This record gives sequence, structure tokens and C-alpha cells, in this order.
Amino acid sequence: MSIRANIDHINKLKEEAAVRSGRKSEDVLLIAVTKLHSPDEINEAINSGITDIGENKVQEILDKYDRVKPVRWHLIGHLQTNKVKYIIDKVSLIHSVDSIKLAKEIEKRASAEGKTMDILIQVNSAEEESKFGVGVDEVEALIDEIRTTCPHINIKGLMCIAPLEDDPEEARPFFRAVKEIFDEHKEFTLLSMGMSNDFQVAIEEGSTAIRVGTAIFGNRDYRSEEK
Ligand SMILES: *Cc1c(COP(=O)(O)O)cnc(C)c1O
Repeated sequence: MSIRANIDHINKLKEEAAVRSGRKSEDVLLIAVTKLHSPDEINEAINSGITDIGENKVQEILDKYDRVKPVRWHLIGHLQTNKVKYIIDKVSLIHSVDSIKLAKEIEKRASAEGKTMDILIQVNSAEEESKFGVGVDEVEALIDEIRTTCPHINIKGLMCIAPLEDDPEEARPFFRAVKEIFDEHKEFTLLSMGMSNDFQVAIEEGSTAIRVGTAIFGNRDYRSEEK
């Protein structure tokens, strides 16, 4: 299937899941995850209606930035503090803030740019050792500390990556746990959860932004990373 046909199909599933959760398709943003895909493929997605793209590596954003049509860029992967300076003027949302150290670096760079940076707190709701993100019990403390020490950061909401399982139903309790924290903050507008295999469940549980790669672009060729 073409990129355009895949996007149309996902939009249809997105709408159906949104309706099941008492919402509309427009209430859920589709972020196309473009890691390991070429500027040509990304531009095809943009021509097919994509307004927001997600990358998980700083270097990939820098490599592609000038070769991709105007679009909103999202940093969705782990961000090292020493790389914040390269993307502070390029991305519209950082999904993966999980430490005060990282927040303070974003604060410093945003302040120097004279801007306010929108971020999400990444929650590791399954408490998986291998994943980044703060535990459910630590979220409020991090939010409080960022609010009191980082005036150039605007916390827009939360992000989570559910454990990868064959059955997307397995992700539901983890999405639900993050939605509960989200609901405690009436000022939050963005709940970034759901990927190719589990975005419909995520929407049913209240996600407002899904990050979909494989279902749009096909499988990623990780071998090309080595070059
Ligand atoms: C790669 C990636 C995605 C997209 O995953 P797919 O399974 O290809 O849809 C979403 N979120 C993050 C953080 C990712 O790194």
C-alpha cells in the first residue's frame, strides 16, 4: 500500500476509535514517526495531509530538517542534555522529558532563544527497567520542580510508551494509569500515547496524540543506521 493509502486507513481507524471514546477524529493528532525514513517519503506523507512528524534522534532531525517541507517536528525519543542546543529552535514539542537535569538544560536554551518550550513528561507506567521515563509515583514531584524552576518551559501533558505485546489489549492498563495522572491536571491538553500496534486502544483510553511509524511507512531498515 502507498503512504497515502496507509494514512487514509489510519485516519479512518483513528476516527472510529475516537467515536468509541466519545470524541471526534480532530481531537486526536496523528504524528507520523519518520525515523529511518527518507525526506522523499516524509514529503509524501506531508502531501497526504500529515502536519506533524516525530523523530527519536537529534541527528536525524538535523540531517533531514532542510530537506523536508514545512511541518511541525516532535522529538519523541530519549534526549541527551548535550544535544538540546541543536534542536531547541527546530522542534515544537519535546515528548521525552524525564529528569530535572534535562528540564534545566531545556530551560537554559529556551531562555537564551527568548522562547518558551512546550514539553511532555514521559511516564514509564509499566516501570520497565529498560525504558526511559519517570515512574508513576515520581511524576508530580517532577512537574512541581519544573514549574518552580523553569519559567521558559510549558508542560503540555504526558507521554508514555506501552510495553510491546502481541495483543494491544495488554497495553490498556498502562494507558489508563497515565490518563489518570493526566486528568488530575485540568491545564494539560496533550496525552501522547499509542503506536502502530496499539493506537486504537490508546485512543479508547483517552490519548490525544498518537505516534505512528510502521503502519504508515512500513518496516524500518535498521541496517541503514550503521552507515
Ligand atoms: C518508533 C517510535 C514510535 C513509532 O513506532 P511504530 O511501532 O513504528 O508505530 C512511536 N514512539 C516512539 C517514542 C518511537 O520511538
